[in-house]
Amino acid sequence: MLRVLCHFLVIMFLTILTQIGGIAWGIALFFRSRILAFILTYTALSIATIWVAPNFGRVALNCFDDGSLQVQSVIYCALNRNYVSPQLAQVLIETADAVDKGFPGAKTLVLDANFPFFDGFPLLPHLSHDDGDKADLAFYYKDENDYLPGVVRSPIGYFAFEQGPTNCVPKWPTLRWDFKFLQPFWRSYAIEPERNKAVLQILSDDARVGKIFVEPHLVNALDVAHPKIRFQGCRAARHDDHIHMQLK
Ligand SMILES: [Zn+2]
Repeated sequence: MLRVLCHFLVIMFLTILTQIGGIAWGIALFFRSRILAFILTYTALSIATIWVAPNFGRVALNCFDDGSLQVQSVIYCALNRNYVSPQLAQVLIETADAVDKGFPGAKTLVLDANFPFFDGFPLLPHLSHDDGDKADLAFYYKDENDYLPGVVRSPIGYFAFEQGPTNCVPKWPTLRWDFKFLQPFWRSYAIEPERNKAVLQILSDDARVGKIFVEPHLVNALDVAHPKIRFQGCRAARHDDHIHMQLK
C-alpha cells in the first residue's frame, strides 16, 4: 500500500514539475531497471514532444539557439517548460531582435514559459502560465563597467531580487517570497538600465502584448510607466527578479 502511495506521489511530483515525467515514471514501473527505464522513456517522450506539441498549438523555444533570443538554462528545456504558442514565439523572437538592433550583441533570455500540452494546466509556481501565451524574461545585467551578455545573477535567473520600496506587508498565505537566505549566494551584478528599459518599451508598444508585470520601484527607476506594465499584487510572486509578459 505504501509502495503504491509512494509511486503515486512520484507521478504527481513529476507531472507538476515536467508534465510528461509522470507518464514516463508510470511506464518505467513495468521495467526492472526502473531509473534507467525512466531516463530513457522521459528522454524519448520529451524529444517526441518537440514534434507533437505543434499539433496542440505549442512550439518549443530552441534551447541551442545562440542568437538574440535564448532559453536561459537548459534546465527549462529538460523539464519541458520552454513551450509557447506560435504567436508568442514570434513576439519573443521579434522583441529579442529589436533589442539587439538597438544594442548589438544583446541576449534576451527566456525563463519559465509553458508546458507543451493542455490549456488550463499551470506551470507551477506560475499559476497563470497555463495556455502558451505567457513567458518570463530575465533582466539584463551589468558589472561595474558593462552589460554582460547572457548573464544572470542566480543559476536559473529567478529569485535574485532587486530591493526597493514596496507597499506590501507580509501576509499569509502569499506567493511573495523574499528568499532572504538565498540572496548572499547570488552574483552581485546590477540591472542594466538601457536594455531593460528598451525591452519593456518594445513589449509595451507591441499590439499583441496584453500585460507585463514588473515591480513598481523598477518601473520608476527605469522610467517606463505604461498602462500595460502592471503590479501583480502583494500576494503574487515578486517581479523585481524577472519580467512577466503575456499576450492579449
Ligand atoms: Zn510569469
